[in-house]
Parts: sequence; structure tokens; C-alpha cells
Amino acid sequence: MNTAYRLVCTGCARVADYSAFRCSACGHILDVAYDYKSLKLPAGFGSARAGHRKYLQFFPIDRFRIHSREGGTPLVDRRIGGARVLLKLETYNPTRSFKDRGSVIEINKALELGAHSICCASTGNMGLSVAHYAHIAGLRCTIFISRDANRHKISLIKKAGARLVRVKGDFNAALRAAETYAGKTGAFVCGDYHYRKEGQKSVIFELVEQMRYSVPDIIFVPVGNATLIAAMHKGLSEFRRFSLIRKFPRIVAVQSEMCDPLVRAYNSKRDVRYMRPRTVADAIAVGYPTFGFEGLGALRATHGIAMSVSEQEILDAVSELRSIGIGAETGGAAAFAGFVRLRKKNPALLEGSKAVVLITGNNEPRT
Ligand SMILES: [Zn+2]
Repeated sequence: MNTAYRLVCTGCARVADYSAFRCSACGHILDVAYDYKSLKLPAGFGSARAGHRKYLQFFPIDRFRIHSREGGTPLVDRRIGGARVLLKLETYNPTRSFKDRGSVIEINKALELGAHSICCASTGNMGLSVAHYAHIAGLRCTIFISRDANRHKISLIKKAGARLVRVKGDFNAALRAAETYAGKTGAFVCGDYHYRKEGQKSVIFELVEQMRYSVPDIIFVPVGNATLIAAMHKGLSEFRRFSLIRKFPRIVAVQSEMCDPLVRAYNSKRDVRYMRPRTVADAIAVGYPTFGFEGLGALRATHGIAMSVSEQEILDAVSELRSIGIGAETGGAAAFAGFVRLRKKNPALLEGSKAVVLITGNNEPRT
């Protein structure tokens, strides 16, 4: 093991077994609690090229048994309506979404723990990513997906060699089905849990390094399960702990107004409540975000903003990105829709700011 850690329940603080996916006592999600005193950065860390595997010491695995050239995604500079913006193109990952950063950690952990099979609930992109890495690792893979999931993504998951179980209901119904299946079969559960969250931290590590440790002022992120904003906050806290950065960027969480439980909770200062997802942006169609509580914490800690965009604004964002040569699916373009909206409604907030937008996925068929 590189860095010593324990799995600690976010609800009751009990320590869980390394193969657990939730606390067996209270059902809450778990957090990877590192012994940071045991974390040693390799010599020349700051000058080595940014990339996912560089951050091994910040991940709860002993080594990379498998990988697929995830991370190291481009950061491109564009001018949109007179404003400069940096776009982090997560669509350049092996399965064309940011999910690969988390999947590679989960599958390496499954191998380290001696698992033979894995399962995962997904709206599409995560299932495709997990299936890809499970195939490389030679693990049996079962993906639970809602019946109304994107057909193109379903065919991609099948092509990647996974067994597919279509569940009546939404993402949260698929999640319950996957966890029940794991309880019966002993399959290692992948998905929006603690190990994936650790892998997703590398988006912010890389971004900070690509900007030569100059932290952006504001960063737009799409929210489904809120794992990504929770991971970014944790990654920023770790870089600050090691004096690699001094300040946090302001995180802007963007959801569709047809499925915005986190935005509603943050802006009304209450807990997250389930909302039936109806958005065209299937990758962020999550009615009850697993990392909702942590996501709210990430927004509070970074003086963040939570905003909803309309379905039309999301579709327009896909078109505008395409017009400047950048491919993105609806969910992957949602953060960009947030940037465009804020630029129109509150330009003073972006004036003179170093703004970054995450383009998170591109797995919808061309129209
Ligand atoms: Zn607990």
C-alpha cells in the first residue's frame, strides 16, 4: 500500500471493511480516510507531467495492475462571446467521459481484493467505462441500467462485453437492483461510491498542474450524483494540505431544471430531496444524488454557486460547442450551458475571471 487509509462511514463514523460499498450499520456512504502522514510525494512531483497515474499516492490502491491511458486530457483556450474560457475536454478519455478516472481505480481495487466479478448501476457512461476496464481486467461484469436509458449507450456497453440488466424505473431503481445483486452474489460493487470518488480527484489535480499551479477563479461542473464536485473539493483540500495550492476555485454546480435536486437544496438551504428525473441530459438524470450531502459541502467550502439550465440551453450548448469543433453529449455540455447562462445574466461575476468549464462526456450518436 502506498498511503495508509481506512474506510470510514460518513454517517456513524464506524470503520468498514475494504470491500464494503456502504456502512453495514447505518447504510450511509463511506469515505477514504488517509493517514496523510504516510503520504510521501515522489521527488520532482511538481515538475513531472500531469496525468492520472502520476497521482498514485492520492489513490487507495497499491499499484496500477491495469490501465487504459485515462486522464491527461486537453485543456483548451477559447473565446466565447468576448469572454475567455478554458475547456477541460474529458471526452478524450478512453470511453469518452470523465468516468474512466474513477473506473480505473475501482477495477484495480477489485483486482487487489481478489474479486472475480463486478456490478454497477449506471445511466450509461459509467456502465460503458466500467465494462471497458472490467474487460481489460478479465472480470465478469454486470451493468444495471434503467429501461429508458440511451439506446446508443446500451449498445456500446454490450459491445464492451458486459452483461446488461435493464431495470424498470430510474437510475435510483437501477442502483437498488445492483446493490441487491451484490448482496446475493458477492460481486464487487462499482459506481458512485468512495473508490470512484478518489479516482475522480485527478480531474482537479491535472487541471491545477496544467495551469502551473495557478488555480482558476471559477469552475463549472455538471452534477448528477455529485461525485465529481465532492471529489474536486477533496482533491483541492489535499493539494492545499501539501502546500501545492493556496486557494480554492469557486465551484459552480450545473443541473438541468428538469432534474435539479442539488441546486434546489443548496439555494434553499435544506437537505436534498428526491426529484423525478425528466431531462434530455441522461448522464445527469439522477433524482437523488448519492454524494448530495458531500456535494453541498463542496459548494459551501468553495463559496460555490448552484444553477439550473433549461433543456433548450443544454441543446444550444451542444450546438455551440460543435460550432467551435468540440464534441459533447447533452450531459457533457451542461456545464458549458451554465457558463453561457451566467455570462448573459451576470457578466460582472465572470469579468476578469479565469474560468474553466468541464466538458465531461461525448457518447451520444451524431445527429
Ligand atoms: Zn454508518
